Amino acid sequence: MCQPCYYPDEGHLLHDLVVVIQPGLDGSEFGLRLNTLLFSNLAPTASFLLINASIGDEAVLASRDCGCGFEGMGWTRHIHSIRSFEKLTAAGMTFVDSHVVRVLEEVLPGRFGGGPISFQLVEEEAENGRGALSLVAHPDAGPLDETEVINTFLDAPGAPSTTDALMSDLWRQGGVVRVERRAPLTSQSGKIGHLVPAGHGRAPSTE
Ligand SMILES: [Zn+2]
Repeated sequence: MCQPCYYPDEGHLLHDLVVVIQPGLDGSEFGLRLNTLLFSNLAPTASFLLINASIGDEAVLASRDCGCGFEGMGWTRHIHSIRSFEKLTAAGMTFVDSHVVRVLEEVLPGRFGGGPISFQLVEEEAENGRGALSLVAHPDAGPLDETEVINTFLDAPGAPSTTDALMSDLWRQGGVVRVERRAPLTSQSGKIGHLVPAGHGRAPSTE
């Protein structure tokens, strides 16, 4: 990570180990978004070879002077706003990631407090076999009412309520999403994802 950073997930690209390019406008021909990250790895010790491989993430790449130690080592390229652009299916609803991201990063903190990484959806295996979701809210956010949170989700622009009318009714009736107050889970790479599939993610280290 970069300190001081402008974005909560801002880091430096270690360009001696990995090459990252983005397709830009040319990508549309291949179904790739403008800012898709295409990785090639350069480390001689890597266990597998990647050449322009997409892992379904997009991000912003930029160069700026930040003055941190990574810059001093020659890693001057910054990466931030890392997103998965794949569709998310959770508890019977299909969301477009950008909608979920906007709600979690902007709409919920704007209404209930906290910051862009205070909220996360975690998929749970429900006992009845039907998926359930936890909305993990960092304790730095204010008081949360489950019904209000769910309505905020379903009423935000881009929500799938028109195509999944039955499911959104179920969501609104309650029991599908529950609110948990704790720090968001991180992935193996330490990234805080917006939606964590069942069985993935781990609690942040408390060391
Ligand atoms: Zn930096």
